[in-house]
Amino acid sequence: SQVLHAAELLEAVMFAAERHRQQRRKDAEASPYINHPIALAHLLATTGGVDDLAVLQAAILHDTIEDTDTTEAELQARFGPAVAAMVMEVTDDKALAKAERKALQVAHAPHKSPGAALVKLADKTCNLRDMAAAPPAGWDLARRQEYFDWARQVVEGLPRVNDALRAAFDAAYAARPVAP
Ligand code: NDP
Ligand code: ZN
Repeated sequence: SQVLHAAELLEAVMFAAERHRQQRRKDAEASPYINHPIALAHLLATTGGVDDLAVLQAAILHDTIEDTDTTEAELQARFGPAVAAMVMEVTDDKALAKAERKALQVAHAPHKSPGAALVKLADKTCNLRDMAAAPPAGWDLARRQEYFDWARQVVEGLPRVNDALRAAFDAAYAARPVAP
């Protein structure tokens, strides 16, 4: 039922809030990290019309393995194998150098499952929105421009999953910064 789905979605919100509790975004005001996964799930549910509980949970949890000590086994036990697998699909291997991780995101994009593609698309859209409205402190114009262009490469490789979300990404990309 919808009530049970709300409870299960809020389980993911509680879990992610606890795991990210000491983390901040990179903007000048060091916003609470949890705002970002919440923004992904909100974008998916509103603009994207996504009502698949597992996808919304995966969006909420998408950075828990990459950025906290959370393990795949833990997500499997608490949220089931489908959610855990989706989070794994959007998790970079932090053992690799940054440039390689960025190249692999582009190379792997065409092979994403539909659920992981939705989460990736929402992640890149939210990050471009943040990059325009509240960019990481100290990033110069060229670095922000590179980020926009890399994000677009990743998104252009993803399978076509949701045209409204893709339009939201394109609108966010249109705010790519340019020299004054
Ligand atoms: P990072 O991956 O370190 O930083 C971007 C990530 O930070 C986002 O993907 C997002 O990830 C997270 N994030 C946190 N806060 C924000 C925010 N306010 N706005 C947007 N994203 C946020 O990027 P890199 O260090 O890899 O830099 C990108 C490029 O810059 C690379 O190509 C690199 O070569 C180049 N570079 C340039 C330097 C320079 O001084 N010119 C120095 C070093 C690199 P998530 O969703 O996972 O939280
Ligand atoms: Zn993210």
